[in-house]
Formats: sequence, structure tokens, C-alpha cells
Amino acid sequence: MVCAVSENCATTLSTDNHAGLPGEAMPPRGPTHPLSSWNDEGGTCHFCGAVGPGFNGPFYGDHDVDRLCEGCLRSGRLAELDLATCTGDAAALRKQLAEARPDLIGTELDALVQARTAELEQRTPCLITWQDFFWPAHCGDYCVFVEELGKPEIVELAREQDPTEWFCSLASDADVDVWNAIREDSARDNPSVSYDLTVYRFSCRRCQSTVLHWDCS
Ligand SMILES: [Zn+2]
Ligand SMILES: [Zn+2]
Repeated sequence: MVCAVSENCATTLSTDNHAGLPGEAMPPRGPTHPLSSWNDEGGTCHFCGAVGPGFNGPFYGDHDVDRLCEGCLRSGRLAELDLATCTGDAAALRKQLAEARPDLIGTELDALVQARTAELEQRTPCLITWQDFFWPAHCGDYCVFVEELGKPEIVELAREQDPTEWFCSLASDADVDVWNAIREDSARDNPSVSYDLTVYRFSCRRCQSTVLHWDCS
């Protein structure tokens, strides 16, 4: 997950404080994503008491919250209890921002990292993964989660490149053994089927680069 901050990205960062509304561009893209903790069945929101569909946990922190409606998630109410849906790679984000925004002094940089991390961790639905992980950052912002990948999708995304090499070059700690364990079927066609090893595709919100992450049960 090496980030090359391009000049284009630096320009974008200096003029555009943030792309999109809080939480809006941060998937799982919508409540019905197969790796989202969205639940259609009625439940009581811990914060506003509304009964209806919403997000189940896990929510990380010192308070037990089982259920959250979409409105309360988007408005950042998890912050009231210092809860989070995920953990951002804030160290990588800070490094990227420091390179892209040399004009910022330390406290301004800290504030930007904190704001973007809060948006990710407290306004983004849970992504259901096998293991905890650091949500990737690229070009000074957190990536968007796009989809799970099987080999058919990887072959398509690699285009003319060798798919094994493409995958191993983009996914940390990936080698041919990991490649061999990736599902053979299409994750897009069979979203409800889960395998012991999962490949997650993220996209940079600034340069659209693909960032891959994988884990296993
Ligand atoms: Zn609510
Ligand atoms: Zn990027």
C-alpha cells in the first residue's frame, strides 16, 4: 500500500477540503452491500430509539451498542460514546498529508487527520471482515471500499497484466500461496457465499488507484 502523492492530488487537496458529504462516499456503499452489517429486520436504535432497519455492530469501544439507525450513523452519534466502526490507518494518512500539504503546521495537520479519521471511524458503516485491519489511506484521504474480489474480477481488473503479479503487487504480504487460496468463483455473482480467504478492493478517492487488502478466517 505505497502511496504516490501526485502533483494532481496535492492540488486537489489544497483546494478541496473534502469530497462528498460526511460518510456519504464511505462504503460499504449503502446499507445493502453484502459485507455491510446492515439488517433489514426491525431493531431499536441505541441513540434515537427509532425502531426499524439499521446497522448492527461490531462497534469498537467501551460501551455496548447493538444497533444504530442510518441517520444516527451518518450524523456521527457514535462519537458521543467514543465508539468506532473500524480503525483507520491514521499514521499513513498523516504521512501522506504532510507530503501533500507542506503548508500545514503541526496542529493543522493533526486536526485534518483527526477530522478525516472521525469521518471514517464514526460515520462509515462496519465492513464485515475476518480480521481487524487498518482501513487504507491514499493521497491523503481514506479509501472507499468497493467490493470483494474473486479470481474472475481480479483477471478483469488486471487487464493485460498477469493477474497473479497484479494482485501480489497491490496486496500487502500477498504471494502465490495467497493467490491460490482466492475464491475461483465471482464474488459479484455470488455475494452471499463466503470463503476462508477474502480479498477486499478499495479505491482512492483522489487518484482512483486500486488498493487491495486480504485476510482469512
Ligand atoms: Zn437513531
Ligand atoms: Zn491516490
